[in-house]
Amino acid sequence: MKRKECVKVVVRARPLSSKEIEEGRRRIVDVDTTRKEIIIQNIKGDGNEAQRTFVFDEVFDMNSQQEQVYHNTALPIVESVMDGYNGTVFAYGQTGTGKTHTMEGKNDPPHERGITPRTFDHIIKVIEGTPNIQFLVRCSYLELYNEEIRDLLSPNHLTKLELREKPEQGVFVKDLSKIVVKSVAELNEWLKAGRANRKVGETKMNQESSRSHSIFTLTIESSELGADLQQHIKSGKLNLVDLAGSERQSKTQAVGVRFEEAININLSLTTLGNVITALVDGKSQHIPYRDSKLTRLLQDSLGGNTKTVMVANIGPADYNFDETMSTLRYASRAKKI
Ligand code: ADP
Ligand code: MG
Repeated sequence: MKRKECVKVVVRARPLSSKEIEEGRRRIVDVDTTRKEIIIQNIKGDGNEAQRTFVFDEVFDMNSQQEQVYHNTALPIVESVMDGYNGTVFAYGQTGTGKTHTMEGKNDPPHERGITPRTFDHIIKVIEGTPNIQFLVRCSYLELYNEEIRDLLSPNHLTKLELREKPEQGVFVKDLSKIVVKSVAELNEWLKAGRANRKVGETKMNQESSRSHSIFTLTIESSELGADLQQHIKSGKLNLVDLAGSERQSKTQAVGVRFEEAININLSLTTLGNVITALVDGKSQHIPYRDSKLTRLLQDSLGGNTKTVMVANIGPADYNFDETMSTLRYASRAKKI
């Protein structure tokens, strides 16, 4: 498999919100699902083209359903993780464009559930339907804020953890909780507990949640007795990543500590873009994993024998023009051949 085939970039445009409709905002984004194009009106009137068109591996319009998004993005990766490969699903985009909606969604009504709970269901269903294979599923949930790592499943979730590297293990987070789970209910409980810890951390440390990345990781080991009477062991890892908002911090707001945060957040997102671009182009000798904690953490699940999908989320309204353009450029750079 050629490397560039392992990275898929899709764009999802959310509907105008009721607030945007009330305020009389104009929709400037069109989605052509047949041609897989996003067309954005240039509202700048700056002499450039009246509209720009971007092509992606897949595009989802404002009527797209959670099931459809899951099916066309995460599902093939979940299947290959059950089969012993690593994979990563990213939600990228400006705050308020639907990253968390895409990853988590809502539990009620059930059709609003996002990628993460659907992944839980799928994994447990496969395990229950395959009694001849023994599975061991573990989960971790961490937050990366200002290049600091915190364990969202630990009672000590305010403690900073260190990234370490060992030849036989690769890069790992020292002391990160890895919890054995056996049911969908347990997985959902841990997700909920981690989310609650994240809220507490935000308040206690005066953090803004839109500026942190969260990574929910499932490690799936399986053992099967083969026809050769040998045990066949496989291990795959899936990272479900809700990235920090990609919006630029305005220079006036971002001073001191906040400014450093802005730089660090952009460092991780910029490096992620560089890593994916290098993977997609397939010619780069050097993949700059080491340039940020996010990419170091995900190094064994990006590139090589792994599958990655990035869902870039965009808002459709006129006042988001600059951020939407920036997301489309980022996403299309990650896709360029
Ligand atoms: P983000 O995580 O990127 O900041 P959210 O996922 O919280 O954004 O979405 C912001 C708001 O928009 C939420 O109220 C969410 O329910 C709504 N929303 C996002 N995407 C969609 C969509 N595709 N369809 C309907 N509502 C959406
Ligand atoms: Mg969010």
